[in-house]
Amino acid sequence: MTATPTLTRTLPKRRLTGLKPTGHLHLGNLLGAIRPVVDAQYQAETIVFLADLHALTVAHEPARVRELTLEQATMLLAAGLDPDRAMLYVQSQLPEHTELHFLLECATGVGEAQRMIQFREQSTAQQHVRLSLLTYPVLMTADILLHDAEEVPVGEDQSQHLELARDVATRFNARYGETFTVPRAVHPEVATRVMELSDPTSKMGKTTSSDAGTIFLLDPPDVIRRKVMRAVTDSGRTVVYDPQTRPGPANLLEILSACVDAPPEVLAAEYSSYSKLKRAVAEAVEGLLRPIQLRHAELTRDPGFVRRVLAEGAERARDNATDTVHRAKRAIGLLT
Ligand code: AMP
Repeated sequence: MTATPTLTRTLPKRRLTGLKPTGHLHLGNLLGAIRPVVDAQYQAETIVFLADLHALTVAHEPARVRELTLEQATMLLAAGLDPDRAMLYVQSQLPEHTELHFLLECATGVGEAQRMIQFREQSTAQQHVRLSLLTYPVLMTADILLHDAEEVPVGEDQSQHLELARDVATRFNARYGETFTVPRAVHPEVATRVMELSDPTSKMGKTTSSDAGTIFLLDPPDVIRRKVMRAVTDSGRTVVYDPQTRPGPANLLEILSACVDAPPEVLAAEYSSYSKLKRAVAEAVEGLLRPIQLRHAELTRDPGFVRRVLAEGAERARDNATDTVHRAKRAIGLLT
């Protein structure tokens, strides 16, 4: 695909990130998604939303979705997201997401949705597959196009969905006239991919990895220490950074590297044994999470503040979202 953005705007670029409230946030979420957003919030117009509608595409508990949505919003603020700078809101509080979703379904083929690898993988693992799981990438397309996002930071697992968003936007523009900005995927220069501590060949995930192999952002120091000290390594006697053949130590070195901002190869040379490396990792992760946990505890004492931030965020996001939906309705033939 060679589509280029159809609507151009002057800098700064608008960047969009969504987090799904399906589980507690973990170290992978912090290093792979939250920290990059917080670091970039003064360079790019930043929009972060809690994707609670996406959380409904698989089996869910209603009260838990609400609870996790608030917990994740609190965590984003605790990790340094500045609500005066970035827009932070809950997806379901902005009905324009679902309104645009339907319009875009009218520009998407069933076959396109069925081709999505993530749908095929997830649907074979479930007994009762919700229709919304099939159309989830179209809702994701709506999330992106709603905000005229030019750049969408995505991991490998979301690349195909971003391609779909580009295809749908390009097709809609060609069929009904220039309406949407065609988004571009941005991949971090050094992709941070935190692996499970008890199985370093699979990605740390909110619901996919084991508790013992996942460092949750609210884990107390003794739990972090226990999880890191029990991390799977190998029978090697020296600490070497080699992600291909020694994934366990490589994962620990990459975590340490992200915490202390030094290359993993250089760090490898500083430790003579796995136990010394693990002690350093536990200490670094505790140090990274301590201020976030303290701020999270403070914010939890004032849930009214977080709710106000979310309501104001939705209000600020509304103007542009309403404008986009009007544009789409005019183009597709619903408004003059
Ligand atoms: P998810 O937890 O799958 O909803 O993902 C939320 C965000 O965190 C996405 O931007 C993911 O790419 C990122 N993320 C999730 N797990 C990891 C991981 N283990 N390592 C790095 N980034 C991750």
